[in-house]
Amino acid sequence: MLNISQILDDLKLRGFKNTKIREALIEILLKAKSPLDISETLEALAKKELTPNKTTIYREIIFLKEQGILEEIEFGEGKKRYEISETHHHHIKCVNCGEIKDVKENLKFENLKFFQQMGYKPIGHSLEFFGLCKNCQ
Ligand SMILES: [Zn+2]
Ligand SMILES: [Zn+2]
Repeated sequence: MLNISQILDDLKLRGFKNTKIREALIEILLKAKSPLDISETLEALAKKELTPNKTTIYREIIFLKEQGILEEIEFGEGKKRYEISETHHHHIKCVNCGEIKDVKENLKFENLKFFQQMGYKPIGHSLEFFGLCKNCQ
């Protein structure tokens, strides 16, 4: 399991100073049950009496992405969501209530045959799933 002090220690070892905002942001995203967007993130920070402006928070998100700590997720909502997780995984979103859950099945896109067949080297992908959750059916 990933924990906050491990992540912060790693960053220190890489020579970065950890700000209050950074620590709070990592903690919030680690504890979140599903990927958060910017306004949800800012709300959670406000509960900790931290009120960074959007530029600060975007800069922080870019930094954590560059450090390989945070992952960006797109559901075609016109906004991005963020998650801190040990493993790369996919998500499923209920189109009715908006619930987002982790897909536990391990989909290794690097193993898909069409890359080789088409002479492409696998670099990335964008794949999320949509459905109706149990309550919404
Ligand atoms: Zn639902
Ligand atoms: Zn997830």
